[in-house]
Amino acid sequence: MIYFDNAATTKVNSEVLDVYVKLVNELIGNPASVHQLGLQASNFLERARYQIGHKLHLLNKNVIFTSGATESNNLAIRGFALRNQRKGKHLVTSAVEHASVLKVFQELEAEGFDVTYLPVDIKGQISLAQLKNCLRDDTILVSLMGVNNETGTIFPLSKIREIVKSNSSAVLMSDLTQAIGKVDIDLNQIDIFSMSSHKIGGLKSSGLLVYNSDLNLSPIMFGGGQEKGMRSGTDNAPLACSLATALRIYMTSFGKRYANAVKLHSFLRKELAKLGSDEIIFISPEEDCSPFILNFSLLHYKASVLVEALSHREVYVSTKSACSSHSKSSSYVIEAMGYSSYIASNAIRLSFEGTEDISQGETFIRILREEINKLERI
Ligand code: PMP
Repeated sequence: MIYFDNAATTKVNSEVLDVYVKLVNELIGNPASVHQLGLQASNFLERARYQIGHKLHLLNKNVIFTSGATESNNLAIRGFALRNQRKGKHLVTSAVEHASVLKVFQELEAEGFDVTYLPVDIKGQISLAQLKNCLRDDTILVSLMGVNNETGTIFPLSKIREIVKSNSSAVLMSDLTQAIGKVDIDLNQIDIFSMSSHKIGGLKSSGLLVYNSDLNLSPIMFGGGQEKGMRSGTDNAPLACSLATALRIYMTSFGKRYANAVKLHSFLRKELAKLGSDEIIFISPEEDCSPFILNFSLLHYKASVLVEALSHREVYVSTKSACSSHSKSSSYVIEAMGYSSYIASNAIRLSFEGTEDISQGETFIRILREEINKLERI
């Protein structure tokens, strides 16, 4: 099997699973219960929170456990905008954010907020001049992702921060779901960020929202007031510990996985380029791109047919973001870069974990060529 769909989800690391299974059996109590079993679960939960802050060098920030990046993005953007709207109602984001960011902004727009959606160029990059020009006295939030989940384009968050902070009093939020453990990033420069456990070898339905402790957010779910009132609902201490474990393993293995991904990414790019420029267009930019994502469009083969054919050979890749892969439309991210809907609908995304070797790349190229040869050209 060749699994090149790690941006959709990674397989669960066995150590992470062991921690989870062991603690599910051991930690019976509800962390909010005042008896010994509750206290025991609560201690594990707080230890996981501390370990995450420690590992990310962010001990001064609030760490909130959520059900994943979708919830974290909703809480961050909606929670911040609603709580701080008296300071201003202007929000800034980009046209290529994940649906769990874009749709929150669209909802806020319908509720009376003014949202600027920064366009991107053919490399998937925003213009820093445009960012600077759109900032206003009433801009309260700028939300720009670390790494694009479809193309791998990396936004220059340090420069973005500099511009945001010297031209406005806005807070900088970033969806770091595809960035944490995959690109080098100074997390201290981001005021609020989200991430998801199942993109780093952890379990699904588990994520984090991390934010500066001097910021005020409104909760978007109400109930028992867990997670400092920010996220009501019984805390899952074993899941929190499994996330802390996944993060530790991913951060510790970062250098090795990154180097591996760079090798595989450049090998595949070189081999695919041999198909010829009248056959293939690379959507992922050559520079400022995560080595964990390689997106290209084959000009004469339908991506959905090819992805299915590859899947019958146990080669797993994506046509676009898994979260929107059931919608019939082509990728809004690739169209926002200026490509036609034809090219966007024929895009194929390969995404890596960084543990693969070149022989898997070679096998992928061989099977891809075999399957292309069987398909009808369009
Ligand atoms: N943001 C980005 C950039 C993503 O890639 C994803 C997952 N596709 C999400 C948010 C949503 O994450 P989750 O599945 O944890 O809700």
